[in-house]
Amino acid sequence: MFDIDLEKTNQMLAEQDVIERVAYGIKTFGSDAVLLSSMQKTASLLMHCFYRLGAENDILFVDTGFHFHETLNLRDDFMRRYRLNIVTLYPELTPEQQEEKYTCKLYKTEQGQPTCCKLRKSDPFIRYMNDQNKSLAFGGLRREEGNARANLDILSIDPRFGGYRLNPILDWTEEMVDNYLEKHEVPIHPLHAESYPSIGCQCCTTAVAPGEEERAGRWRHLRDDGKSGPVYCDINFSDGGGI
Ligand code: SF4
Repeated sequence: MFDIDLEKTNQMLAEQDVIERVAYGIKTFGSDAVLLSSMQKTASLLMHCFYRLGAENDILFVDTGFHFHETLNLRDDFMRRYRLNIVTLYPELTPEQQEEKYTCKLYKTEQGQPTCCKLRKSDPFIRYMNDQNKSLAFGGLRREEGNARANLDILSIDPRFGGYRLNPILDWTEEMVDNYLEKHEVPIHPLHAESYPSIGCQCCTTAVAPGEEERAGRWRHLRDDGKSGPVYCDINFSDGGGI
């Protein structure tokens, strides 16, 4: 376990630009640092930073078995174009095995969704971090997104694998993200241009209407009757304490 002075390190990181923050994580943690990529546009930005730095660190992509084909295509595009070391992680059960075991499609109900997200997203990620003794996971959270993310530090602890999470664009606006991607001509998920600001599994993601919140299209089927419903899948411990 790396022993980091969080307060001092966060003060230092706050003064740095994104590439310096990514370089800090890679230099400090070496091959124990990974990037958790959702293939959304913040992930495109961070994968591009790995490319700029020539980092051969693992970039983790969790294939839930329910992704849009555009998501899988983008993963392959990044591997071809930038020669990144993208590692695809899988849940223990296929979608069919999971349905047989639980005798239902878990994602369809309020009670089943947390279990589905745990089995298909969080568990493969945490298992990999623990099994491979990884100590740092980069992510693309931003304070502007609100909820618990608004109060997060750039470097924080994730007790589920006894390591750290580093969010190098935590203090960035969406405009800054878009400007970076445009300037460096980085490919982004095509569904962002079709009113999908937030993209997860196909069966749990819809487009948003003008004026709707960014994450309104996630798990919309669980809010059809006006209930609050889930906002996050909890792959990011800071969003809700983890599951
Ligand atoms: S987003 Fe939906 S399908 Fe994907 S893991 Fe979570 S509940 Fe399951």
